[in-house]
Amino acid sequence: MRNRSASFLASCLALLLAAAGEARAAVNVVASTEDLAAIAREVGGDKVKVDAIGRGYQDPHFVEAKPSFIFTLNKAQLLVVVGRELEIGWLPPLILQSRNAKIQPGADGYLDASLTVKILEIPTGQITRAMGDVHPLGNPHYWLDPGNGRRIARAIQQKLAQVRPGDAAYFEARYADFDKRLADAEKRWDAMMAPYKGLKVVTYHRSWPNFTKRFGLEVIGYVEPRPGIPPSPSHTLELIAEMKRQNVKLLLVEPYFDLKTPNSIARETGGKVLVMPPSVGGEKEITDYVKLFDYDLDLLVKAIKEVGAH
Ligand SMILES: [Zn+2]
Repeated sequence: MRNRSASFLASCLALLLAAAGEARAAVNVVASTEDLAAIAREVGGDKVKVDAIGRGYQDPHFVEAKPSFIFTLNKAQLLVVVGRELEIGWLPPLILQSRNAKIQPGADGYLDASLTVKILEIPTGQITRAMGDVHPLGNPHYWLDPGNGRRIARAIQQKLAQVRPGDAAYFEARYADFDKRLADAEKRWDAMMAPYKGLKVVTYHRSWPNFTKRFGLEVIGYVEPRPGIPPSPSHTLELIAEMKRQNVKLLLVEPYFDLKTPNSIARETGGKVLVMPPSVGGEKEITDYVKLFDYDLDLLVKAIKEVGAH
């Protein structure tokens, strides 16, 4: 009898310790990109442990699916994805192979960040993936508008409060602090960009519609004929003619694209190629979400001044 009650007490103690450990341990969050990971860290603070799968210097449409990601996903309590089929070429098999029921699409631990943000370029006609278009559900590069960054942060905050209700007030306070810092930064960015309203640029991929809309630039063309389709000679010639016609001097290129075509366009037009990272981690200085815009806008303003484009 004494033995039984002693072992019963030991079991109770083990359960209590396990529960206390569960409460103390950080929530395991995995994000498909470094941008989402950076925002999750803003909101989650020291109550979360965040891993990113894609790196900020990689094309987010084409991340190499390493087996180690399966292990990372297996331990996740929350998975945050960009959605709109951005990750369709590499993430779904990893999620499946993780055998983690918590983070399968539709489960409580799966958060599609695109569901609460403003999406641009939603196709009105037929979906065009068959033609190679990698944006069949609207533009998935939406994190490049700080307003959407704020919406992503809110969605992550609400999800973390569900996963860990005891820390809901903490996540709420972290969100409020991020919101305020972002609003302060936006005032700074607006002042920087105010002199360049309406400036025309060309970009390689359609990565920047949210960014250019937010900061008052106009994109007049793309090096790619369609999102995900490599440049063709006829399209390049048309683009050069259009840039000359409209006197466009700046060509923004994401770091993971070949510079051969952009450089030849710049030579023909007397323009400048500006390699601009669209993600946190795209350069070593870009360690958080606010720094992404600080870095890019600084780069952009310097380039505008250099080409005398305005
Ligand atoms: Zn894209």
